Amino acid sequence: MIRVAVWGFGAMGKGIVENILEKNETLKLIGVLDINRELIGKDVGTILGREEIGITVLSDPERLFNEAFPDVVVLATNSFVENIIGSIKLVLKNHINLITIAEEMAYPFYTHPEDSQIIDSLAKRYGVTVLGTGINPGFILDTLIITLTGTCKKVKKIKARRVNDLSPFGPTVMKTQGVGTTPEEFYKGIEKGEIVGHIGFQQSISMIADAIGWKLEKIEETREPIISTVYRKTKYIEVTPGMVAGCKHIGRGYMNNEVVIELEHPQQIKPELENIETGDYIDIEGEPNINLFIKPEIPGGVGTVAMAVNMIPLVVEHAPGFYSMKDFPIPRCLNQ
Ligand code: NAD
Repeated sequence: MIRVAVWGFGAMGKGIVENILEKNETLKLIGVLDINRELIGKDVGTILGREEIGITVLSDPERLFNEAFPDVVVLATNSFVENIIGSIKLVLKNHINLITIAEEMAYPFYTHPEDSQIIDSLAKRYGVTVLGTGINPGFILDTLIITLTGTCKKVKKIKARRVNDLSPFGPTVMKTQGVGTTPEEFYKGIEKGEIVGHIGFQQSISMIADAIGWKLEKIEETREPIISTVYRKTKYIEVTPGMVAGCKHIGRGYMNNEVVIELEHPQQIKPELENIETGDYIDIEGEPNINLFIKPEIPGGVGTVAMAVNMIPLVVEHAPGFYSMKDFPIPRCLNQ
C-alpha cells in the first residue's frame, strides 16, 4: 500500500482524493491539507458528501508529515513555481515523494532553471522523486505529441490544437480567460496580466523540443479574444453578441526563424452555439505525416485527476530526482 497525502482540497484535490479512495487495494489516503477555514477540521468524507472516513482536513503540513508518514504528496494548490516552491521544499525535506499538477512544474527547466536545479538537488539528497503532470500541460499538448513522434523517421513541424468548452468552470476561470468582457477590456486585462489564457505553453513547447533534440531560438505567445456572434449563457456568466466568449491562445516555438511547433488552445464557453466542435487535434509533418484527433476532447478535470493518481506508483518506484513526463515510464491506468 502506498500512503498518499493530498495538499490542496479544491476542485482537483477533491477529485484526486475520491480517485485515491476508489483504489484502496493499492493506495491509502492518510491525510488532506488545505488553508481554507471552511474545510479545516471537517471530515474529508463529509465534505465529499459521503460517509465519514475518519480523516479531517488539516492546515499544518509538518504535523501531518510527522504523524502520518506519507510516501507521496499530491500537490494541487497553485499553478506557479514561485508560489509553491516553499511547499515543495518542505515535502522533500521530509523525505516524501511529490507529484504536482501546477502547470509551471510540468517543465520548469527553462522558465525557472535555478528553482528546477534546487528541486532536483533536494530530491536527490533526500532520496525522493518529483514529477509535474496533469492533462495540459502534462499530457495532451506535450507527452502525447512526443509519444507520436516515436513512430516518425523524421519530424519537420508540429501543429496541435486543444479546443475545449469552458462552460463548467467557475468565476476564477472566467476572469483569467476574459469571458464576459468587451474586446477593449480583454486587451487591457492582458496588459495588466489579469487575463492570462492558458498556463503551460512555455512548458509544453520546451518539453517537446528537448525530447526531439530541437534547439529553439524563442517561444512566443499570442492571446486574442474569441468574440461571440450569438448569445451564450452558463451558470456563472452571460455573453451577448460582440462580447468575449473566451481566449484564443497560441504558443509558437521557432527554429531557424521558422515556426516548428505551434500549439493552439482556444477556450470558450458554449462553443457548440457557433458550431465549433471540441477536440484534441495533433498534426505532425514528417516521415510519415501523422494526424490524430480525439473528439470530443479528453475532459480536463477527469483527465487531470487520473494523471495525478495513475502516476503515483511510478513516482514511488522511480530513481530520485526531479523529472518531467518525457523522462518517465509511459502513463497507464492504475486499474485495480
Ligand atoms: P482550486 O482553486 O479549486 O483549489 C485549490 C485549493 O488549494 C483550494 O482549496 C485552496 O484553499 C487550496 N490552497 C491554496 N493554497 C494553499 C496552501 N498554501 N496550502 C494549502 N492549501 C492551499 O483549484 P483546482 O481547480 O483544484 O486546481 C489546482 C491547481 O491545479 C490550479 O493551479 C490549477 O490551475 C492547476 N491545474 C492544472 C492542471 C494541469 O493539467 N496541469 C489541470 C487542472 C488544474
